[in-house]
Parts: sequence; structure tokens; C-alpha cells
Amino acid sequence: MVKAAGVYKRYGPLEIIRGVDFEVQRGEVSVIIGPSGSGKTTFLRCINHLEKIDAGRIHVDGKTVGYREVDGRLHELRDAEVCRNREQIGMVFQNFNLFPHKNVLENIIEAPRGVRKIPAAQAKARAYELLERVGLSDKVRAYPAQLSGGQKQRIAIARALAMDPKLMLFDEPTSALDPELVGEVLSVMKQLARDGMTMVVVTHEMGFAQDVADTVTFMSDGKVVEQGPAPEVLSNPEEERTRAFLARAM
Ligand code: ATP
Repeated sequence: MVKAAGVYKRYGPLEIIRGVDFEVQRGEVSVIIGPSGSGKTTFLRCINHLEKIDAGRIHVDGKTVGYREVDGRLHELRDAEVCRNREQIGMVFQNFNLFPHKNVLENIIEAPRGVRKIPAAQAKARAYELLERVGLSDKVRAYPAQLSGGQKQRIAIARALAMDPKLMLFDEPTSALDPELVGEVLSVMKQLARDGMTMVVVTHEMGFAQDVADTVTFMSDGKVVEQGPAPEVLSNPEEERTRAFLARAM
């Protein structure tokens, strides 16, 4: 579902992503861990072209992200095409990014109505279904400011799912939450994983990685240090740097 090869990304003179190879199969949950500043968020944003890469290729569901490939040469896609491809990829951010002036229902139906032109009744029916799935049916008319952080994040997940994505990207979805609210968000994510969603999750929640991840990628200094089946990387890492990180994080 996701295949990245030789990806580089720099901001000005700073090389942030330095030759990353990465792969996720359909239906897998892939967790990316690593020290602060190692490039995890930047790489995640490259997967849906929120950041433009400087070298390498990323494919999502067989399509080159941000480019059309003709006879081995890359041609940059126009914005509209980028947006169309991005519709297949749901993203959940650390800080929720809900529209503050729209209520929960309006937040969820915004993209299906505005982008997909789905009829109002159908979009609303789907929104109610998703609200039930994230356990927030009673908040349909609430505004983001009236919700807890955990509730906001569950709405953000419902909103992403409303576009029926093939892939969900989570960028540290629980790190802005009070500790007692982390569990409710992780349990929605666990259910999503059990339902077979392909997920790439940047997180510091090692318990989640242990319980849910199929593969774990340890990044440091813009590179993949170690990548493999979750039990192996988490319990028996090959690399000293992974071992040292896990000793501090677990
Ligand atoms: P954390 O776990 O703290 O979120 P991370 O591994 O996700 O860290 P990134 O957020 O990807 O790391 O940041 C990697 C590096 O890139 C950092 O040094 C950061 O300061 C830098 N960086 C990120 N975004 C930009 C930007 N838009 N312009 C310049 N530098 C940036």
C-alpha cells in the first residue's frame, strides 16, 4: 500500500530525511518510533505530499505521490490532482485541526459534501454511523471548544474516515492529550486496526506499538535505523541505537 524508496527531504541547508526506504502492506499497522527531531513527522507528511520530497519516490496504492511517471520520468502533478490523490489518505494530527466554527456534524460532512459532492442526507447518515463508531453520537451538535482533547481527536478520526480512505496516517495523535484521555483515542485506533485499516502511526506510545503494530520502524537522525516485525524490533532489536531508545521509552 505504501512503498518509499531513497526519500530525501531538506529544509534549506538542513537535510531532515536522508535516504529513507519504507514499506507497508495493505491491512498492516506500521508504527514509526524514534527520538524527537528524527524526522518522523516530516516523513509522514511526505507520504501524502504535504511536504514535497527532494529525491526518491513514494508510491501509495501503486500511484507515485505528487508525480505522474511517464517512461520512468517524473512529471509534477497539478494541485487538483494532488488533492484528488490525497482524498484516499486520511490524516490525523497531533492538534486535531478541527474547524472551530463548525459543529461536529459539519466538521465530519465538510469534505464528503464539498469535495466528493455526496448528497447531504447520505453524508449525514455516514457521519452518524462514524460517530457511533467512535462513541460520540451524543456530541453531534457540539462545537470543538465544548469537547475534551480525547473527544476532539475521536472526532478528527471520524472526520478522516468520512472520506473512506485506503490509508490512515496518524501523527502523534495522543501526545497533546492529558494522560487520562489517551486510552479512549488508542482504543478507537485499535478497533480501526482490527477492522483491517492500513495505518501508519507516529507515536511515543510503546504499549500501542506492542499491542497493535505489525511492523515497527525506528528512525534516528533522518534515517531508518531498524525496521521489522513489531515483536522483533521491540523485544529483540538488532541495533544498539534502537536498544538504547527502547530502554528509555518502555
Ligand atoms: P518529534 O517526535 O519531536 O515530533 P520528529 O521526529 O517528528 O520529532 P520532525 O518534526 O519531522 O521530527 O522534525 C525533524 C527536524 O526537521 C527538526 O529538526 C525540525 O526542527 C525540522 N523541521 C521540521 N519542519 C520544518 C520546517 N517546516 N522548516 C524547517 N525545519 C523543519
